[in-house]
Amino acid sequence: MPQPIAPKPPLKPLAIARPLLAWYDRHRRRLPWRAPPGETPDPYRVWLSEIMLQQTTVAAVGPYFERFFARWPDVSALAEAPVEDVMRAWAGLGYYARARNLHACARTVAAEHGGQFPTDEAGLRALPGIGPYTAAAIAAIAFDRRATAVDGNIERVIARLFALATPLPRVKPELRRLAATLAPARRCGDYTQAMMDLGATVCTSRAPKCPICPLARMCAARAGGLAEDLPRRAPKPVRPLRHGIAFWAIAPDGAVLLRRRPARGLLGGMMEVPSTDWRAERWSPIDAAAEAPVRAKWRALPGIVRHGFTHFELELMVLVGRAAKGEGAWWPIDRLAEAGLPSVMRKIVRHVLAQS
Ligand code: SF4
Repeated sequence: MPQPIAPKPPLKPLAIARPLLAWYDRHRRRLPWRAPPGETPDPYRVWLSEIMLQQTTVAAVGPYFERFFARWPDVSALAEAPVEDVMRAWAGLGYYARARNLHACARTVAAEHGGQFPTDEAGLRALPGIGPYTAAAIAAIAFDRRATAVDGNIERVIARLFALATPLPRVKPELRRLAATLAPARRCGDYTQAMMDLGATVCTSRAPKCPICPLARMCAARAGGLAEDLPRRAPKPVRPLRHGIAFWAIAPDGAVLLRRRPARGLLGGMMEVPSTDWRAERWSPIDAAAEAPVRAKWRALPGIVRHGFTHFELELMVLVGRAAKGEGAWWPIDRLAEAGLPSVMRKIVRHVLAQS
């Protein structure tokens, strides 16, 4: 079991929850998916925000949440939407399997649960796209269940409260175990959001604001002068580099050829600028031309488009060619914004347009 750097007596749930909730009642963040104080949370909003917030910042999610909620104000409306519309509305938010699962989940809730989300972790976990963390977060926040959700912010707070020296990700099971010991039986939803807010605004990665922290008296990292050093992290493995060639085929009327990616896998179901496979070896122009989606006289654009995925870095060269408008999805160049292109594809568009 990981040893704390500066052992302290065990923390009791209420020793943490009381001052934290009092702080939360005064300093909570106003977020578009949150119920105002005293109001019952809307499980649809909580679920939608938690799916969007997976691997994504609050700042990035905000505008997407507002647009989704305005367009599909409840789970039944989302369930009735064509999946292509949902994917398009998600474009730019990344991790596109989330959008497909979001839609599948809405359909399941509408069809099998009468439009009501299950209220416990087990029922939530049975739905598409809801893993242990998200189930716990929804159970706590939407239904005030005593459930332990540990996101990146809460990990940091717990690692510091207990001054855990074991690096992430190895320390995660211990963080979850300790977090579970602190969750209060009452107001667990507010407590969970309070922990998230504390991590986001006070117990920040850099320069934590310990002097104004409501948990300062109980914090082992603060007592040991270690706050900024925790949590420790194992060095990240270097991401491999992959190469590809993108084909910017343009028709006489100015339309650009796009295509839809296969439903499964990276960027599954999203529209794209056609490209070769993304592989470890560089492409020779001759090999690449054999992969082109249409016949054209291809010309390489100067420069490279770079994009970081979770598990690899991608470098794309772009070939531009004039082509006859045949089969396929030809989009007017001034309406490409409506195609729902993911971020890497938007970079290709910007790269081409910057040189036109
Ligand atoms: Fe974080 Fe400092 Fe508060 Fe400890 S005292 S929880 S390190 S902000």
